[in-house]
Amino acid sequence: MSSRSPSRQVVVVGGGIAGLATAAQLEEQAARRARDVDVVVVEGADRLGGNIQTDRVDGFTIENGPNGFLDNVEATPALVRSLGLEDRVIQADESAAVRYLWRKAALRRLPTGPVSFLRSPILSLRGRLRLLSEPWMPTVSGDETIYEFARRRIGDEAARVLVGSMVSGVFAGDIERLSLPAAFPKMRAMEQEHGSLVRAMIAKMRARRAVRKAESRGEDVGEATRPGGPAGPGGTLTSFAGGMQELVQAAASRLRKPARTGWKIEHLARRNGGGWHLGARSGEVLEADAVVLTVPSRHATPLLSPLDSELGELTSAIGAAPIVVVALGLEPSRIPRPLDGFGFLVPRGEGPRILGCLWDSSIFPGHRAPESKVLIRVMIGGAHDEEICDLSDDEILSEVRRDLATTLGLPTDVRPDLERIYRYPAGISQYEIGHLQRLDAMNRRLTDLPGLWLGGSSYYGVAMNACIAKAVEQASEILDWL
Ligand SMILES: Cc1cc2nc3c(=O)[nH]c(=O)nc-3n(C[C@H](O)[C@H](O)[C@H](O)COP(=O)(O)OP(=O)(O)OC[C@H]3O[C@@H](n4cnc5c(N)ncnc54)[C@H](O)[C@@H]3O)c2cc1C
Repeated sequence: MSSRSPSRQVVVVGGGIAGLATAAQLEEQAARRARDVDVVVVEGADRLGGNIQTDRVDGFTIENGPNGFLDNVEATPALVRSLGLEDRVIQADESAAVRYLWRKAALRRLPTGPVSFLRSPILSLRGRLRLLSEPWMPTVSGDETIYEFARRRIGDEAARVLVGSMVSGVFAGDIERLSLPAAFPKMRAMEQEHGSLVRAMIAKMRARRAVRKAESRGEDVGEATRPGGPAGPGGTLTSFAGGMQELVQAAASRLRKPARTGWKIEHLARRNGGGWHLGARSGEVLEADAVVLTVPSRHATPLLSPLDSELGELTSAIGAAPIVVVALGLEPSRIPRPLDGFGFLVPRGEGPRILGCLWDSSIFPGHRAPESKVLIRVMIGGAHDEEICDLSDDEILSEVRRDLATTLGLPTDVRPDLERIYRYPAGISQYEIGHLQRLDAMNRRLTDLPGLWLGGSSYYGVAMNACIAKAVEQASEILDWL
C-alpha cells in the first residue's frame, strides 16, 4: 500500500510492557513500510507500566515487580536500542551466578557442573543417581504437566526440589498443574531434538565452546549463538540504572500520540462496515480499524464474552497466581551471612512459606541500595498459597520475618530501615494443562473477529521477553492486515 492511503487507526488496550512494545513496534514498522498508521495506547490505571513499577525511596531503587530480563531474546535488546537506552543498561554482577536453595534446613549452593552436582547434598544419593539415568528415559510428545515431564526424565525428588523451585521462581506456579509444552517449550524441543535434556545440554555446551573458539580467532559469530552470561540460563539478567521503570518511561515518551491513562475500556463492539468501537468507563469512545487487547486474560473476558461467548470462556480459563513482594532495606551487619549471590528459592514442603528471596543489591551492586545498606526482596504466595492476598500487611510481614529468621538468621526483632509490600492478586498467568489447545481454539474464534488481536503475558509467555517478542510479531501481522 502507498503512503498516500488514508491513515488507519490502531488502538492498543493496556499500557503494560506488552501494550507499549506493540505500539512502539507498530510505529516503527509502519514508518519502515511508509504506512500512515495512528496508534493510541489506552490504559485503565492512572500510570503506565502494569506490573512494572520502580520506587525510589531514601537511596533505594525498589522494583515492585520484575527486576530485569534475560538478554538472550533479541526483541528486547532491540527495543532498548531503538529507545536509545543503551547507556542506561546494567547487567547482573558475575557473582550473581551463585544461587542457593533452602534444602534440609540449610541454604545450599546450587551446583553448576556435573561433578559439583554429584557431591552436592541438595538431593539424596538415590535422587542424584536417578538423575544420572536421564539420557535413557523415554520421550513423550503432546501435553503433560511439568511434574509428569520432570518425574519421567529426572525422577520424583529432582522434579519436586529442582524443577518445583525453579517453577516457583518463574511462574509462582504448581508443577502438577502447569503444562510443560506451554510453559517451557524449549525443554520439550530439547527432548524432541536430542532424546534427552543432558544430551541437549552437552550439545549446547559444545556449540558454546565452538563459538568461543571462533571469537578468539576474531570471527563474527552473531548475537544468536553467543553464550549466555553469569546470572541466568543462557542469558544475562539485564536492567536499567534507575530500574525497569526506565523502559516504560522511554517507550511511552517515544509514542507519537501520548498514551491515555485513566482510560479503562469497558465495551468493545464491531462497527458497521468494519472496524471497532471502544467505550471507556468515563463514557468516552474511540474508533479503530484494529484493536490489540494486551490486558490480562481476566480483563479481556468481559470485553470478549459479548462478542463471542466461547472466546470469553477460553480467556476466562486462563488463571493467574497471586504474589506479594516484600522489599527490605537494611544494614548488612544485621544479616549474619553474606549476601553472596543472586538469592535463594524454597522448594515446597521444606518448611518456609516464602517462595524465595532475591538479593537485589548483590545482583546489581551500586544501583539498588545506598552504599552502606543492602536491599533484599522476598516473594511469597503463588499457586500453592492463594490466600496470601487476604492477609494484612502485619500478617505478611510476620510470615516473612519468621522465614528470614529461619533461612538467613535475621533476628525477628530487627526493624529494617525500609519495608515495602507490593501485592499482585493476579500476578503471574498460569499456563495450565490444555493451554496450547486453548490458544488454538482462541485463534480459530478470532478469525471471525477481523481486526482484533490478543497479546500480553496471559497467552504466549509470562516473561517480558516473550511479551516483547510477540509484540514484534503481532505488529507485523496487523500492518499486513490493515
Ligand atoms: C512480582 C512479579 C515479578 C516478575 N518478575 C519478572 C522478571 O523479573 N522478569 C520478567 O521477564 N518478567 C517478570 N514478571 C512478569 C512480567 O511482569 C510480565 O511479563 C509483564 O510485565 C506483563 O506485561 P503485560 O503488558 O502483558 O501485562 P500488565 O503488566 O499486567 O499490563 C496490563 C495493563 O492493562 C491494563 N488494563 C487492564 N484492563 C484494562 C482495560 N479494560 N482497559 C485499559 N487498560 C486495562 C492494566 O491496568 C495494566 O496496566 C514478574 C511478574 C510479577 C507479578
